[in-house]
Amino acid sequence: MTFITRFAPSPTGPLHLGHAYSAILAHDLAVSRNGQFLLRIEDIDRSRSRPHWEDQIYDDLSWLGLSWPEPIMRQSERLGVYDKALDELWARGLLYPCTCNRKDIAAAASAPQEGAPLHGPDGIIYPGTCREKWRKTSATDTRAREIPLRLDIAAAGRSLSGSNHTDAKVGDFQEAGVGPNDETGSVVFTLGELTNTIGDVVLSRRDMGTSYHLSVVLDDAAQGVTHVVRGQDLFEATRIHVVLQALLGLPTPQYFHHLLIRDDAGKRLAKRDDARAISKYRAEGATPADIREMVGL
Ligand code: GLU
Ligand code: ZN
Repeated sequence: MTFITRFAPSPTGPLHLGHAYSAILAHDLAVSRNGQFLLRIEDIDRSRSRPHWEDQIYDDLSWLGLSWPEPIMRQSERLGVYDKALDELWARGLLYPCTCNRKDIAAAASAPQEGAPLHGPDGIIYPGTCREKWRKTSATDTRAREIPLRLDIAAAGRSLSGSNHTDAKVGDFQEAGVGPNDETGSVVFTLGELTNTIGDVVLSRRDMGTSYHLSVVLDDAAQGVTHVVRGQDLFEATRIHVVLQALLGLPTPQYFHHLLIRDDAGKRLAKRDDARAISKYRAEGATPADIREMVGL
């Protein structure tokens, strides 16, 4: 089996040193295994994606000395694939429409009987308001469109584990890197962990018809990615991805989560950290070798 890695940036801002680190790592790993390094443009957020940021991605990565096969996968061209997967999950009763806004969720999650709101990979863990409503009204056969859809994670976990027990194993994945709490090797997760630390995540966002979690899983499978190299900030989301892979009959790749490049104050770099943009270092005369050295590669 060919060893395949990928770099999957969103064209919503300049690539910075953190992206350079992730891309070079994924590239070098593939090269060292006689494999392939692929590029994917994660542009499902039409309100924030810009063609000039996409062009800049190609330009910065080529300048760094990376190359990848064409054609490049772009998520905006795969909406039909995402739609079909949503149909499938909907038909199995695993999705429900949710119209709560951020304020509704914060209010419901901090109701006195709930205690302090818990946070998962996508922010406050959804308290399940619409799931309960959905069960009380009768489910229609046609899928709700133009409305966000959430995954009923408990139902998904029960169907995968075949059990109701909170400590029933739902899935696992191989971590070749390291998670934020030093997780490495075989990472197993239970039904209780899914409901308590992840909750009902949105799989179809308003105006997108998909979500990061759903697209990334379908695309990694479509590209035959065997090793997902990405930042530790996405480690917690991996359990969602493994659940979706199992539900959709897709293989689970190996994961290699890496440390995040931080600024001098120890804060992780974000898109708005233009001060660390690769293009800025280029303009100041840095070489690709300088960039490698700056990120410790
Ligand atoms: N598109 C995501 C980002 O720019 C990365 C997705 C992934 O590596 O799974 O943060
Ligand atoms: Zn809701």
